[in-house]
Amino acid sequence: MPVSTSRPMATMAEAVVDLDAIAHNARVFADRAGTGVMAVVKANGFGHGATQAARAALAGGATWLGVSSPPEALALRADGITAPILIWLYPPTETFEKVLLEGIDVSVGTVEALDAVAEAARSMLVVANVHLKLDTGMSRGGAPAAEWAQLFERASMLHRAGALRVRGLWSHLATAEEPSDQGLQDQLTAFDEGLRQAADAGLDPEIVHLANSAAALGLPRTRFDLLRVGIGLYGIEPVPGASHDLRPAMTVQAQVLLTKRVPAGTGVNYGHDYVTDRETTLALVPLGFADGLPRQASGEAAFQVHGVRCPVAGRVAMDQVVLDVGDLPVRPGDVAVMFGPGTDGEPTAHDWARWAKTNPNHILTGIGTRVQRRYEPVR
Ligand SMILES: *Cc1c(COP(=O)(O)O)cnc(C)c1O
Repeated sequence: MPVSTSRPMATMAEAVVDLDAIAHNARVFADRAGTGVMAVVKANGFGHGATQAARAALAGGATWLGVSSPPEALALRADGITAPILIWLYPPTETFEKVLLEGIDVSVGTVEALDAVAEAARSMLVVANVHLKLDTGMSRGGAPAAEWAQLFERASMLHRAGALRVRGLWSHLATAEEPSDQGLQDQLTAFDEGLRQAADAGLDPEIVHLANSAAALGLPRTRFDLLRVGIGLYGIEPVPGASHDLRPAMTVQAQVLLTKRVPAGTGVNYGHDYVTDRETTLALVPLGFADGLPRQASGEAAFQVHGVRCPVAGRVAMDQVVLDVGDLPVRPGDVAVMFGPGTDGEPTAHDWARWAKTNPNHILTGIGTRVQRRYEPVR
């Protein structure tokens, strides 16, 4: 649903989240791959609101939720979400009691964590579901290949003893956007080897998962049983330039607070990096780097006002930017769009990422808490 930019805004700055777009995007992945979809709603649902994004994704056909940490998973449960959830980051002191009581699955890459999970499950008389995490070459989380045999042996023993259930086996790809990358081929080979070793140890996990958004769309052989979909769920093409009918879900916009007509030669904002080259109108917009506008985008960034792209004049400050809107009849209360789906010519999260030399994930997750989230359609 296109976000209306003509009606007056109720708040100074807002992020409008199109929940139908999130449901649609979940469906695109589920239909395309014919596998299960884990909606990755870490980092507050990439800035969209974790619970709202989770509900929309589940409505669109996602069957799992993934978040990084215990508090994120517990917050979903506190909001009444009962779908399976996997977590993969926790401190070495984690006792797992709360997460196991809430039926949250735990990624495990060490024998120590396996034992801690089994112990917590035993003391609380609950079933613990673990997903064994293999480092197949990203050199981040998970067990390195040299420790797989030990991990599988211990997991198999605990599984047979009924101390826990090995429900999943998984890994994460470092270069899924580059199908021809040698590192990617090496990771796929290593993952196959891990699956073989797990089977040799007597493990038969119900859910094998490897693909993130880019792999899910571009590398069919990475799909296995479940896709872990993050950025694609929010409508951002994981490989820029490709087109999979994904719909960007977030529009960030703010009210113009003030306009002023200035002569040529007027220096604007800190340092006077921008000096007007003609008589023009400046428009003050209450969004700054504290709200997630990258300061590095100064000099390149633009907003859309009255259907026209207007450059950010000078630096992005903490709370505000100034736009050069030329001779447009812009008035206080008019809407300035930072980014949206791009369907009406407004900048996109990809544009902001390019201007700031970062990725769209960084732009989306950076949108601060001061920017009011508003959900459409209202349910
Ligand atoms: C964030 C994350 C994902 C989602 O990746 P996208 O590229 O955003 O789809 C999947 N798996 C893990 C382990 C992650 O941390």
